Amino acid sequence: IQEADLVLFLVDAKTGALPQDKDLARSVRKINSKIALVANKIDDPRQLALAGMPEMYGLGIGEAHAISAVTGRGAGDLLDAIYEQLARQNRPPQAIETEESLRLVIMGRPNVGKSSLMNSILGEERVIVSAIPHTTREPQDTTFEWQDKKVTLVDTAGMRKRAKIERGIEEAGIERNREALMKADIALLVLDANEGPLGQDQFLAGLLKNAGRGVILVANKWDLVEDKKTWTSDSFEFEIRRAFPFLAWAPIIFISAKTGQRAEKVLDLAFTIQQERDRQIAYNALQKLLKTAITRHKPVPYSGPKAPRIYDVVQIGVKPPTFEISVVGDKIGIHESWIRFLEHQLREKFGFHGTPIMIKARNIAATSIKGADNKKKIKLEKAKHPWARKRRPIGRKGGRY
Ligand code: GDP
Repeated sequence: IQEADLVLFLVDAKTGALPQDKDLARSVRKINSKIALVANKIDDPRQLALAGMPEMYGLGIGEAHAISAVTGRGAGDLLDAIYEQLARQNRPPQAIETEESLRLVIMGRPNVGKSSLMNSILGEERVIVSAIPHTTREPQDTTFEWQDKKVTLVDTAGMRKRAKIERGIEEAGIERNREALMKADIALLVLDANEGPLGQDQFLAGLLKNAGRGVILVANKWDLVEDKKTWTSDSFEFEIRRAFPFLAWAPIIFISAKTGQRAEKVLDLAFTIQQERDRQIAYNALQKLLKTAITRHKPVPYSGPKAPRIYDVVQIGVKPPTFEISVVGDKIGIHESWIRFLEHQLREKFGFHGTPIMIKARNIAATSIKGADNKKKIKLEKAKHPWARKRRPIGRKGGRY
């Protein structure tokens, strides 16, 4: 108990907290104050009230997390709570080293060079490509070793076969692409460097928008670009950035799948992005960043005159990195513009190159904050800035996150 970062104190919710539980809770608390109360055997949602019985609070360990160890109900929420608690203690859980491979999916409209890229990544003997499009022979996912690391190429070739039969590539392709994307860590969106982004490219990019996957924009057929000047890649990049503003965080790499130029760099980049997706930021570092961000740009509410007070920001997940902002008060939300500002600050400070990051906001009651009398503190802040009441939100319609 002494050595634990967190003690889970289990109580049988069916019998309720008994005197023995109370004695035990008292002795455990003396040894380690970091305890989470777990009310077990709540197999049926109708029994949820059992977790909120007064004698549960009487144990002095705070609110109980309702779970059913048998059915697994509530286990996910408990895990989230554990993660958050450990992150707050600056002890974020470490990822377990597994033999898992990095899963890549190659996306792109027909003829853009997907099979050729696959070919140059894998080597001739694995995938056969001819000058005629739609000739990928490998129907299954392919796992291979690259520099002692495992890589899996998730297959979307079946999609193209089907499209050939049924016609209408876009309709047939969407679901297959979406499915393949969900199985992958990182998507390589292959584009033709000789053409600007077309409708189909736009469509596939749209799939990547909220998928939570890492993205590399691969501008292929660079060997065909005539008269290359230093600004040629810049102007292509400019067009891409304008067409896919929602993928601003995704790197662009110029390659030739045919000659193999920079094709291996794609794998290098994919591994770098995977690390970024796994990155965990310490609680204290996040609070420091939050403080600076608030000084630079006061949080904006999504409606109403009240400026939101942010208690803290915690990283609650990886792949993609996910953060949660705790906002003090019941119905106060943060305007999207400010969330985007915070995202910008997080990227500036910590990178997260090639991966989306998610930022959620939740409301916490002022009374749930430990320490000083916060209600009073909030009032004092308001009194100091009477003009804050007159403040108008930047946009009338803010979203929720
Ligand atoms: P997919 O339909 O996206 O899989 O495209 P393919 O890989 O089948 O390529 C379509 C055509 O473009 C083939 O004739 C390839 O040889 C050619 N191609 C692919 N990549 C390149 C490249 O980098 N440079 C050149 N010059 N041709 C390429």
